[in-house]
This record gives sequence, structure tokens and C-alpha cells, in this order.
Amino acid sequence: MADFVGAVDQGTTSTRFMIFDYGGNEIARHQLPHEQILPQAGWVEHNPTEIWERTRAVIETTLTKAKLTHRDLAAVGITNQRETTVVWNRRTGRPYYNAIVWQDTRTDRIASALEREGKGEVIRRKAGLPPATYFSGAKIQWILDNVEGVRQAAEDGEALFGTTDTWLLWNLTGGAHVTDPTNASRTMLMDLETLDWDDELLEIFGIPRAMLPAIRPSSDPTGYGVTLAGGPLGGEVPLGAVLGDQQAATVGQLCFKPGQAKNTYGTGNFLLLNTGTQPVRSANGLLTTVCYQFSGQLPVYALEGSIAVTGSAVQWLRDQLGIISGAAQSEALARQVEDNGGVYFVPAFSGLFAPYWRSDARGAIVGLSRYNTNAHVARATLESICYQTRDVVEAMQQDSGVRLDVLKVDGGVTANQLCMQIQADILGVPVSKPVVAETTALGAAYAAGLAVGFWESAEDLESNWKEDQRWEPSWSHEQRELGYARWKKAVERTLDWVDVT
Ligand code: ADP
Repeated sequence: MADFVGAVDQGTTSTRFMIFDYGGNEIARHQLPHEQILPQAGWVEHNPTEIWERTRAVIETTLTKAKLTHRDLAAVGITNQRETTVVWNRRTGRPYYNAIVWQDTRTDRIASALEREGKGEVIRRKAGLPPATYFSGAKIQWILDNVEGVRQAAEDGEALFGTTDTWLLWNLTGGAHVTDPTNASRTMLMDLETLDWDDELLEIFGIPRAMLPAIRPSSDPTGYGVTLAGGPLGGEVPLGAVLGDQQAATVGQLCFKPGQAKNTYGTGNFLLLNTGTQPVRSANGLLTTVCYQFSGQLPVYALEGSIAVTGSAVQWLRDQLGIISGAAQSEALARQVEDNGGVYFVPAFSGLFAPYWRSDARGAIVGLSRYNTNAHVARATLESICYQTRDVVEAMQQDSGVRLDVLKVDGGVTANQLCMQIQADILGVPVSKPVVAETTALGAAYAAGLAVGFWESAEDLESNWKEDQRWEPSWSHEQRELGYARWKKAVERTLDWVDVT
């Protein structure tokens, strides 16, 4: 049998291909960015053809770097930016329009009308999501309503919808039109219980069923087919798995048991808690989502807390305030002071996501006195990442009744030692980081390898997860709760700031 597994990680700003061995060690990778197309305020698009070309190139280059061929790969998995919407023609394979990216807010009128017309309740109940511009359903509706000829083509079965996993699978296999439940659970169109497209939800958005892909288990030996011999792999390799990026990271962190959670700290934060084989409805502003489904097994669900601004608040210190020259310097600056000196920063630059979902909030730095310096602001920025995480953890504990005993972390911000120590202090639980930080690609590789028997079972993977670093809480209970109470007061100050129409 082949000795390696590959993973395509199609992200928001770039696409990478990575190859892993049986021990979960990285063998090779190559990564290429693609253009962020910003036609007007609030609109974010990608060119699907460019994404496919970049995918081809990263696969070919990685194989060359590693001196491997398709024969060395037991399977390939795909993980992808979620919700981003592509619509293309079944015969020509050409997109009708650019991909509308998850960050794009052009559908705000569609989303707010859903709430006004009382459709929010059924969307929450069936899809586990609040109506929002974030998810694919409204983006598909926008394309059907605004791009000439697409509605008719969709009704005739000529126009196909897919998230970027589906788009890449279509191109890699020469025509498979498939996705997995983790991606489908981000469309507002799939019933979480049946894992099928729901007629009532399709009706709400006016979306013809004929344009939607088949939903296969996330890890499946045959469901996604094999790569084309003439494609970038240069031969047939089973496509064993598809997972949305945050779900893939949850698998990569081996959160296979209910109560296990991972937090990814990037531009924003995404905390996912495995809740087992029953979807848990949130009363506290979290999303209910499919975590993964292995072939022949029940689906496993997650509660998800998405935070819009975390690592990007550090970028703001660099680019807008100019008080640091690079992200890593935020640590040295914050270390110049013992504590936050009373300063709290709520980076609600475009409102607040989980658990507040307040689009009327805007950012604030509060508690300033004459004595404060840049260092306090840097420290308050790192604390804001950790306090926002605590807000989500509190909501998760209330919804699930599960108490977190350790938080597994990954993502760019986890390079910041001080920030991770503050996280343990603010949560009052240890924070643990694995050696292989590329948990997203690794999760897709694991799911693909499990599908074809490269790894026998999830237990097989346990020994691959090795802790790199652990941070233990050091604050007293009083200190922790006093700080958190102040944070909550700071959040209150940011609400009801702008008028939202
Ligand atoms: P994404 O996948 O969302 O692009 P990454 O996981 O690559 O994100 O993380 C990038 C983010 O991490 C950036 O917003 C950057 O500001 C932040 N970051 C990187 N290194 C540090 C650091 N040492 N301290 C604080 N933030 C950091």
C-alpha cells in the first residue's frame, strides 16, 4: 500500500496541498494565494477558475518537491473555506459568476427580510443557523435573482451549485457533483436531522433542488470517486474525504469524544465543541453544525462559536495604530506591563458575532487613564482575544451542560506565548497545543486515510497527537472573575452604537 495521504486545503486567501505519513508528520507542502476581488463595499469575490488553477499547481509542485507520484498516495482529502458559493454550467464547466465569499454581505437585505417575515424560526429549527449573510443559501438566491439566465438554467438542471469542495471535486473527477454534511450544514438548506436538502428551506430561498450536489458522508471510500488520470495527480487516487475547514481542524485535533473542543485562532476564532450524535440547539447564540460523518456511522454534531475579530485586532495595532511593526511584537510590547492597567478593548469593528450577534456594536477601548500606554493597549488586545473566547466557552457550557477540562488550540495567534498564558488564566482551564499545527489539512488527511483503511480507526490516530506546549491557569478565582465582570461591562458599552437598517 501507498505510504502517504494528501490533503487539499482550499482557504479564504490561499490554497495548499500537504502530504502526511502514517504518524501524521508533514512530508511536503506547497501553497499559493488567490486574488481577493472587492468590487464594492461589503462585497468579496474569488475567481473559481483561478482557485482551480492554483489547486492544480499546488498539487503538482508538492508532488515534485516530495519526489512522489500518485502511486504513493493512498487517498486525498479536501478541506475548504465554508459557505463560499460557486454556480457553474454542467456542460461547459464554466462559472456563471465569481464565487461569493463567506465574508460578503451583499445579501443583508435577503437575510433581514427572512427574520422580518418570520422565517427565522424554521431556519433555526431545521438548519441550526440564524438567518445571516454568512451562509450560502442567500448567496445562491442572489445569483439566481441577479445573474441573467441562471434561474432558468438552474430549473433545467444546467446550472450547478457547490461550495469550493464541490467545485474542486467536479474538476478533479471530471464531473462528480457531491459535497459532505459539514459543508451542506452551512447553507441554511440542509435539515440537520435527515442530512438531506429540505424542501421547505429550498422553497424559502427559491432554490431548485436540481442544482444541489449529492451529500455523501465526510469520510467515504467510494462516495467522491477517484481523481482523473489526466489531472494534477497524474493518476487515479481515491478522494476519501471532504470536511469544512473548522470541522477538519476538529478532526485534526482528534476531538472525537463528546465534550472535546478545539479553538482555532486566526483572523477570527472558531471554537467547536463535539456534542455527540445528537444536535444540540443553542439558546446562547451558538451555531449547531455537523462536525463529521464517517461512512456507515451516525453523524456527529458540534456547537460552534464564531468570533469575527481576534488575530485581525493584532493586525489593526500594526496597520492602523502603527504601535507594533509585526504581529509577534504584540507580545514584547504587552510584556512591558504587569497587567492591563484597567484598559479593556472590545474589537467590535463590524459588530459582534457569537454569542452576541449584535450588528449595532462598534469597537471601544475603555477604562483609560492618563497613566496608560501603548503597552496596556497591546495587552488589552491580547486579552480581548481571550475574553471573547471565554464568552463563547460560557455559552457552550450553558447549552451543552458539559464543562471544558482542557482547551486544544491551533492557528497563527497561538505563537503568542503571553496570549496563550492569558487564555489559561481567563478560562481557568489548561490550554494545550499540538506539535502538528496544521490541524485543518491534517484532519482532511485523517478522514481520507480512515476511509480507505490507511488508518484502521480513530484510536489508531491517538498516538499521533503529541502535545507541544501547555499553559496552566495562574490567576486566583477572584482575579479571574473580577476581570471577566469588567470585560462584560466593556462589551455593554459597545452595544447600540450604530443604527442598523
Ligand atoms: P488565517 O488562517 O485566518 O489567515 P492564521 O492562522 O494564519 O490565520 O493566523 C494569522 C493571524 O494570526 C493574523 O491575524 C495575525 O495577526 C495573527 N498572529 C500571527 N502571529 C501572531 C503573534 N505572534 N501574536 C499575535 N497574533 C499573531
